Amino acid sequence: MQTSPSLIEIYNMEKHYIKNKLYNTSVLRVVDGISFSISKGETFSLIGESGCGKSTLGRIIGKLLVPTTGKVLFEGRDITKLVRKKDKKLQKDIQYVDKEASFKWNKRSTIFKMLEKVLETHEMCSNTNGHCLISHLLNSMGLAHIAYHPIQGLTPGERQLVNIACALVLQPKLVILDDPLSGLDLSVQSQVLNILSHIKKKRAITYLFISDNLNASYYISDQVAVMYKGRIVEKGTVSQIYEEPIHPYTQALMSTVPSIYKRERIILKGAPPSSSCPSNGCPFYKRCPFAQEACKSRQPLLREIRSGQFVSCHLYA
Ligand code: SF4
Repeated sequence: MQTSPSLIEIYNMEKHYIKNKLYNTSVLRVVDGISFSISKGETFSLIGESGCGKSTLGRIIGKLLVPTTGKVLFEGRDITKLVRKKDKKLQKDIQYVDKEASFKWNKRSTIFKMLEKVLETHEMCSNTNGHCLISHLLNSMGLAHIAYHPIQGLTPGERQLVNIACALVLQPKLVILDDPLSGLDLSVQSQVLNILSHIKKKRAITYLFISDNLNASYYISDQVAVMYKGRIVEKGTVSQIYEEPIHPYTQALMSTVPSIYKRERIILKGAPPSSSCPSNGCPFYKRCPFAQEACKSRQPLLREIRSGQFVSCHLYA
């Protein structure tokens, strides 16, 4: 199979925070040594329980957070040290869709006017070309009928679609969708997913989809990485991860979606360890039904076990 060139490459990314509780200092390892790349035109999902570090990683890639260490290449260009506010091209090329964005809008403005404003802010055409661009986008997203409605009357699903439209109108190369279905009911979730897939088929666009909604990630993804306590424990194609997971944590996670993973439900004991108590061993050690003595003291590396499927577990070293 021929693979597309990488759009973005992440090398050994770390984000640590110093926590100081009255002289008792500890280090929170929210993202702890992550490397992966996303090919042009692909949808790459980051999944895992809440608090696993996936949103922090998304914000680093979106240049909204500075990493502690690591490197980010975008189309081969090292953007690790670039400041988003100072780089117009980067602001346009990489869009971060945040579910909170709609709270910052002028509620009396219409959708059309707001998109015009977005184009103006980025010094993109605000004349006839701009109007064509907006109309075309709203049409393809099924929003044309409410183009001149004030923002304040929109439903939560429409607001989220407008959030996404604000990103897409800039014709970005990478869109980071951070928990884009949160708070939406099931029918609206599938509407948003269908629109995202439809837009992707029509444009050369790449998505980084961050979510703990496993059904949604299955529907939209080409590649999936599973995160646990700031690390990637398994990575592969969507069918490898959902239908033939190898890592014990991925198997437990997938057993919660019986419509896809046709095996018995696995109930994990305990809760994930705190990010401020890192161990030298596997972070899943205390909850893993297959833990061995070596898992306590040696951190497993992410290795390719099957073609394109990478797993971090001593059982497969
Ligand atoms: Fe379980 Fe050990 Fe594998 Fe970690 S390395 S997932 S503890 S078997």
